Amino acid sequence: MENWDLIIIGAGVAGLTAGIYGVRSGLKTLIIEEKMAGGTTADAPIIENYPGFERISGSELMQRMAAQCRGLGVAINEFEKTVTLNLKGEEKSVKTNKAVYKAKAVIIASGASYRELGVPGEKEFRGRGVSYCGVCDGPLFKGKRVLVVGGGNSAVITALYLAELVSEVKIAHRRNVFRAEEALVKALMEKSNIEVLWNTELKEIEGEKLVNKAVLVDMQTGKIQELPIDGVFVQVGEAPNSQIAKEAGVEVDEHDYVKIDIRQRTNILGVYAAGDVTNHPVKQVGTAVGQGITAALEAYGYIHRPYYYKQ
Ligand code: NAP
Repeated sequence: MENWDLIIIGAGVAGLTAGIYGVRSGLKTLIIEEKMAGGTTADAPIIENYPGFERISGSELMQRMAAQCRGLGVAINEFEKTVTLNLKGEEKSVKTNKAVYKAKAVIIASGASYRELGVPGEKEFRGRGVSYCGVCDGPLFKGKRVLVVGGGNSAVITALYLAELVSEVKIAHRRNVFRAEEALVKALMEKSNIEVLWNTELKEIEGEKLVNKAVLVDMQTGKIQELPIDGVFVQVGEAPNSQIAKEAGVEVDEHDYVKIDIRQRTNILGVYAAGDVTNHPVKQVGTAVGQGITAALEAYGYIHRPYYYKQ
């Protein structure tokens, strides 16, 4: 069994930032990541609101963060799935599909996953026309017609990204106003090959081998429309990856986001949470960075009890 000072679950923005601050504080730090380092931010086509970078792709930003983290001496175990956490008491343990690790403090930074719509055809055609990631799958739809569903930042950014690749983009939003940033909405409205379908819900996705039709309903008139389409990009928010933490006794809110206080502490001593898995109301790269920093410095304080640290 390996012994660590700090174990971080998840190598997205919050986890990698916590890694940087943990190791620079002198903590022997391990990050365990189920997939590749980068988290959902690595799927962002373009980031224009992270200070210091006027325009950078999500994958480049995350590659830089992971390289910085590794360069400082953080161990990042990729493609290793956390199975159970034992968080009560002074000595915490993390069991994965490969090993069992011990740590003095743990940071939950397991992020969030794409939320599904739950409409007929969505599961059936996943990977055959239904996608949750524009950057990953957009190039497969070059010159074709796609539908984006949602009205937040992710939906608008995805529509803008796809508009550069495909022949036409329709974006279906269930209300008549976006919740995305003003600057993004302005850019969307200026694109000649994007059409917004307001007050519109996707009812069903149809096809044969691949998707070829979206069944839409106008929420105001009840009118059904069958839209010939080659791809559907679902961008309707996220759901926190909090199940394993919850099973270990970490308190979550009514939507399963991990409850944290202003110092990123959970209800369990020595256990912190940061980033999209938490119930912090803002989900941005910058806020995840801040949360990761606070969590790591709190973990350091908890382990080493410097004179200024207050329990
Ligand atoms: P979001 O902000 O929660 O927006 C989800 C969108 O999907 C909303 O417009 C919502 O409609 C719609 N929706 C939800 N459930 C639906 C359903 N069953 N059927 C139809 N529509 C549905 O999610 P997000 O855009 O994925 O972003 C997640 C978080 O990351 C947000 O906090 C966001 O600000 C942040 N983010 C930031 C950036 C950036 O700043 N560059 C980029 C991406 C994401 P209603 O509007 O009617 O609720």
